[in-house]
Amino acid sequence: MSSAGVWSAVSRQIESSLRRQQFETWFRCITPVEADEERIVLSVPNRFYKEWLETYYLSMIKESATKVTGASPAVTFVIGGTASPRPERPSTEPGTQPAREPAPVAAGAPPAAASEDASHSFSPNYTFDSFVVGPANRLCHAAAMAIVDAPGRAYNPLFIHGGVGLGKTHLLQAGSRAFMARNPNSKLVYISCEQFVNDFVAAVQRGSLAELRSRLREVDFLVIDDIHFLARAERTQEEFFHTFNTLYNARKQIVLSSDSAPTEIPSLEERLVSRFKWGLVARLDPPTYETRVAIVRNKSAARGYELPAGVAEFIAESITANIRELEGALTRVVAFAALSNRAMTLELAREALQDTLVSKPLVSIEDIAREVSSRYSVKLSDLQGRRRTKSIALPRQVCMHLARQMTNYSLKEIGGFFGGRDHTTVMYADDKIAKLVRSDPGVRMAVRDIHKTLTR
Ligand code: ADP
Ligand code: MG
Repeated sequence: MSSAGVWSAVSRQIESSLRRQQFETWFRCITPVEADEERIVLSVPNRFYKEWLETYYLSMIKESATKVTGASPAVTFVIGGTASPRPERPSTEPGTQPAREPAPVAAGAPPAAASEDASHSFSPNYTFDSFVVGPANRLCHAAAMAIVDAPGRAYNPLFIHGGVGLGKTHLLQAGSRAFMARNPNSKLVYISCEQFVNDFVAAVQRGSLAELRSRLREVDFLVIDDIHFLARAERTQEEFFHTFNTLYNARKQIVLSSDSAPTEIPSLEERLVSRFKWGLVARLDPPTYETRVAIVRNKSAARGYELPAGVAEFIAESITANIRELEGALTRVVAFAALSNRAMTLELAREALQDTLVSKPLVSIEDIAREVSSRYSVKLSDLQGRRRTKSIALPRQVCMHLARQMTNYSLKEIGGFFGGRDHTTVMYADDKIAKLVRSDPGVRMAVRDIHKTLTR
């Protein structure tokens, strides 16, 4: 089969399992450069397509390619507008692949760890100014500011921990940057723990430990990002222990971040665990809804575009896990609008995020209302009305909870359907029923039954 033949068979497979709009948007523009049992190289118009396809469709393409070729060809994307279907070179010779982009980062791989040291090449975006403060990060933010005011004295060490994408690196770099701005003649070292481990191993091999030690111990402010990485490097723990002691005794500031609390880092030496707790251990929690909205608004303003009403809220409702994903979602919505040449609306945002949202069964709000109305023997018109008597309020809250669980409608839309209520009412109802499902067997059974009927 020719390259074009292979690709057209693969893309027909894909077409049959996607909605038309999705296929049109993401697959029409692909030109196969090469497609056989060994590899499939696809040319796409720009970086956005490349990243989007890599993130959301790579496994689907691979699966279809396997069905078509009976092998598992490697799939890569190149950026190149209208690529010629085949490179004009003898294709039998090995090593004659068309010029490619540098190898794409594997989909789903974490972004490369920041590994700055004395050169202070911090990300320009990671400043205190651009950091949105909310209840989940207030303590960490305040602590990071405090150590800049009183390094070595306020909290030493400062140990910030929290899940991925919650702002650890952002805070560490913001603090480092502020410290340097205020103390231009001081010495600061900012290093990822991974880099520290690598440098240590290399120094041992080269016999240049003394050099490494002076680099890390003759400083005023030492920042090590992702210190949990030490858990995998036993010999480095010993080295770090002495570095820590030297700096601590000299009252130099130590700042550490980690994905978990000191006691929860597996195989971390006890003496390090206890030292990490000498200063302040502060936790970053996932941001609240209001903080997420503010972050989406800030980021879009910083990138120079305005989101129409409801879009920031929709993104903030849809993406709850962490801030990196929140930013990714915003980028996708913006890219989607640009690529499909459409105005940015709530509808478009929903479409753009469809691939990322956990796919929810196709249930309409009306279905939910109908089931709840018959289970609780209340009138549909009452569920959608303004009355607040208890016999109506509870079933209405059940409706809102199920709509949150089973549909991708926004809080605003759900509130609108059930008597023109605002988003906070829906959030409250959702939360309340979720708690009742755990604590009240009657509610639990009702919610389960309705859910079951709706998914049948
Ligand atoms: P971590 O190091 O905890 O994995 P990062 O510091 O890399 O997370 O943050 C992930 C992304 O989220 C970064 O782009 C960062 O700028 C952004 N971010 C995190 N917290 C905030 C916040 N409070 N306000 C604005 N942006 C934030
Ligand atoms: Mg980080």
